[in-house]
Amino acid sequence: MTVRTRIAPSPTGDPHLGTAYIALFNQCFARQHGGQFILRIEDTDQQRSTASSERDILSALRWLGLEWQEGPDVGGPYAPYRQSERKDEYRAFAEQLVAQGDAFYCFRLPEELERIREERRAAGLVPGIKGDLALPDAEVQRRLAAGEPCVIRMKVPDEGVCVVEDMLRGTIEIDWSQVDCQILLKSDGMPTYHLANVVDDHRMAITHVIRGEEWINSAPKHQLLYRYFGWQQPVFCHMPLLRNPDKSKLSKRKNPTSINFYERMGFLPEAVTNYLGRMGWSMPEEQEKFSLAEMEAAFDIQRVSLGGPIFDVEKLRWLNGLWIREELSDGQFMDRVQQWWLNREQLAAVVPHVKSRVDVFSDIVPRAGFMLSGMLPLSPEDFSHKTLDQEQVLRVLQFSLWRLEAQRDWSKDNIFADIKGLAKAMDLKLGDFMHPIFVAIAGTPNSWSVMDSMALLGPDMSRARLRHGLEVLGGFSKKQTKKVEKEFAALTAQ
Ligand code: GLU
Repeated sequence: MTVRTRIAPSPTGDPHLGTAYIALFNQCFARQHGGQFILRIEDTDQQRSTASSERDILSALRWLGLEWQEGPDVGGPYAPYRQSERKDEYRAFAEQLVAQGDAFYCFRLPEELERIREERRAAGLVPGIKGDLALPDAEVQRRLAAGEPCVIRMKVPDEGVCVVEDMLRGTIEIDWSQVDCQILLKSDGMPTYHLANVVDDHRMAITHVIRGEEWINSAPKHQLLYRYFGWQQPVFCHMPLLRNPDKSKLSKRKNPTSINFYERMGFLPEAVTNYLGRMGWSMPEEQEKFSLAEMEAAFDIQRVSLGGPIFDVEKLRWLNGLWIREELSDGQFMDRVQQWWLNREQLAAVVPHVKSRVDVFSDIVPRAGFMLSGMLPLSPEDFSHKTLDQEQVLRVLQFSLWRLEAQRDWSKDNIFADIKGLAKAMDLKLGDFMHPIFVAIAGTPNSWSVMDSMALLGPDMSRARLRHGLEVLGGFSKKQTKKVEKEFAALTAQ
C-alpha cells in the first residue's frame, strides 16, 4: 500500500498558519513512508470561496518550501483537484444513499428545524435533527415533482456510541445522540464538506487523513459514510490545534495568523517552517533549529504530543534570528533582502506614492519607511488631536479594528467604505476619524492616503498596527471592553 496524505484547504480567506502546520505534518508523514502528499481545494462553499484566496494559499505554502505531488496547479491522475469542478458527481453519490435507505430528502426550512429543536429541548429530549424527520415516500415524490427546494441528509443512529480510532488519540467515543442527520447535498445542488471530503478521500486513494482537532466531531459521520458506501476508511489522525500564548485557540483577533504577514515582516520561510515543525513535535535530539529535509528524515508522528502547542511570535523571532545569523552568508543575506521587499514588483506599488513626495532619495526612508517596518515606535502623544479626546481615539482604533477584522475582501474601496461608515455612525468628521488611523498605520498624519497604505500592507499587518496603537494608548480594561463591544454592536446594527 502506498501512503497518500492530503491537505484540503478551503479558499475562503488569507493563507492560515494552521493550514501550513497541518500540510507540513502531512508532507513529512508521506515522505517518511515513501508515499505521496497531495493538495486538494475544497471550494464547495461557493459564496465564500475565491480564486485569489486559492492562489494565495498555494503560493504561501510553496513559499514555506512545501511540495505536493498532485494538485490543482500541478495536475495528477485524480484531476480535477478542485471540488467545484466535480459538482455533479457528488449528487449521484447522495442519491445512491437515498436509494439505499441511508439518506433522505428533507424539505424543512431552517426556522422549522429550530422550532423542532426548541420543542425537543423543552420536552427534555435530545434536540438533534434525526431520521424521524423523513417523510413518507409518496409525500417525498409529490414534493420533488412539485419542485420544492430540499436537501439530502444522511441518516445517523438515534442512540448508542460511535467508536472512532485515531492514530494519536486511540479510541474516541462519541454519543450518536449528539450527532445530527448531516446535510450531504445542499438545496443549490452543491455537496457539503462532509460528502465531498469523504468521496474525494476515497476517490483519491487517501490512506491517512491527518487534520486539525476541530474535525474530531465530524469523524463519526465520515466513518458512517464510508460504511454506507462500503469503502475502506482511511486512518484518522487529529492533530492538536495551535494556540495563542494565553492558550486560547490561535485567532486573528489576537495574533496575526496569515502567512502573508510573516512574509511581509521579513521572516525567513525556513524559520517559519522550522517553528511550525516544533508545534507539538520535537527532533529526537531536541535540537531547536532544523531544516525541512532534516525533519522529514527524522519524522515519527507518534512523537506528536497532544497538549495544545503555543505559537509564540517572540520565539519565532528568536529562531529566525538564529537562521539569519547562522545560515545566511552575507551574499545570501543581500539576496534575501532583495527578494523580500526591495524587488521591482514591490517597489512599483509604492513608487507612485513616494515619487511625488521626495526631493532627494534620502527623503525616501523618512517618508516611506513605515511601508518596510513591522510595528512602529509610537508614543501616546503621537495620537493627540485638537478635537478628539483619548476615549474617542481609543474607540476609533478599536471600532476600526473590529470592522476590518470582518472585512473579507481587502481592497482600498472596501476599507474606505468601512471607515466612512464608522465615522458617520460615530458622528465624527472623516478627517478627524482618520487621524488616529494615520498615526497607527503610517506613524504620522502627513502621509499619502492611508487606505492605499492599508491595501498595500495587507489585512494582517494593518490590523496588527491598529492593535499596537491601542496597546500604546493603554487600551480598554476588561470591563470597559464589554461596554465598548455593546456600543460597537449598536453602531454597526444601524
Ligand atoms: N476543507 C477542510 C478545511 O478547510 C478540510 C478538513 C479536512 O482535512 O478534512 O480545513
